[in-house]
Amino acid sequence: MSRETLGLSEGLAAYVHKVGMREDDALRLLREETAAHPMARMQISPEQGQFMSVLMELIGARKTFEVGTFTGYSAMCVAKAMGPAGRVVALDVSEEFTSIARRHWAKAGIADRIDLRLAPAADSLKAMIAAGENGSYDFAFIDADKTGYDTYYEYALKLLRGGGLIAIDNVLWSGRVIDLKDTTEDTKALRALNQKIVGDERVTMSMLPIGDGLTLARKR
Ligand code: CA
Repeated sequence: MSRETLGLSEGLAAYVHKVGMREDDALRLLREETAAHPMARMQISPEQGQFMSVLMELIGARKTFEVGTFTGYSAMCVAKAMGPAGRVVALDVSEEFTSIARRHWAKAGIADRIDLRLAPAADSLKAMIAAGENGSYDFAFIDADKTGYDTYYEYALKLLRGGGLIAIDNVLWSGRVIDLKDTTEDTKALRALNQKIVGDERVTMSMLPIGDGLTLARKR
């Protein structure tokens, strides 16, 4: 679903992995352990992780959050790219998945940059807003339950500074967004959010066909 870029041939995907990105040992070890997990398809592709790392450098990110941490690959990419001064608030509900994340973050020496909060993400985001953190984040990555995306997007718009960036994963949903026979709640939620963002004057945006589709929305 998202460990590779949609529509890229196996040969070209291998080529991109070889000469289109750098992945250090810590990231590779985490990706390889996750590949053996039954839910491995929930991990972002390494080229997407690399892209997000460059984005962090471009926007000079220091304070970020993510909704949906899974085994910690995206948080590791972002935390490494920001350097020791960077912070990631990582939101998830799974003790099982994030125990893998915590082990790898510790081994990579970046555990102190990542603040893992195990609770329903909407509750954690509401608490961040209540704590007066509106307008203080540089970057938000949304990659969790698809029916929650609209809520996470709205909270992210509050928490980000002007010029801050939201990245939304799985917006192409393995192509299901254009399969009109697919009326599952997840697919409907993604279609509705995609349609909303393209017309949302609060952001400038671009939908990228990387991984399973990644929308970038920059808060005006
Ligand atoms: Ca995803």
